[in-house]
Amino acid sequence: MTETMTDFRPFIRDVPDFPSPGILFRDVTPLLAAPDAFLAAVKAMAEPFRRLRPDKVLGIEARGFLFGAALARELHVGIVPARKPGKLPRMTESVAYGLEYGKDRLEVHSDAFGRGERVLIVDDVLATGGTARAAIDLAEKLGAEVLGVSVFIELGALGGRSKLGARQAHAVLML
Ligand code: AMP
Repeated sequence: MTETMTDFRPFIRDVPDFPSPGILFRDVTPLLAAPDAFLAAVKAMAEPFRRLRPDKVLGIEARGFLFGAALARELHVGIVPARKPGKLPRMTESVAYGLEYGKDRLEVHSDAFGRGERVLIVDDVLATGGTARAAIDLAEKLGAEVLGVSVFIELGALGGRSKLGARQAHAVLML
């Protein structure tokens, strides 16, 4: 399989002290710019969830939109954007959360999911897990069933996985 043969590490740039001192930022733009590696990453992110037959992907702003849209195409389902405050034009549901670097809030259109729709949450990086947890809470608040979370990179030392409960968390790269 292409995805197990791809060494993804060369496609990630580590940027010290961005966006604030002490943060080692994992820049995935080289991966996004390399079509074969990006496709292999998307397939690897989708793989464990194919048999679970999600109805929708929930992509988290902003890099989660890039991975999320590609995964939605790969799984042949729709994508719902989880956005920063004030960006969505219609009635929204929202949840506040803490980040590795700061605080924020995520919003989703109130009618984004039908009751019991099966949702896969997608982002580029799982760090402390606060963002993914907020996305889970939002989807569940709106009556969806969360199948799991798929990320390209998990920063294992930050323990974000523990915030996701029993839900399946899948990472292509553990750093
Ligand atoms: P967290 O809520 O702490 O799990 O943070 C995850 C979110 O913040 C994701 O949307 C990531 O894009 C971003 N993020 C957090 N830490 C990093 C990092 N070290 N490098 C790149 N993105 C990060």
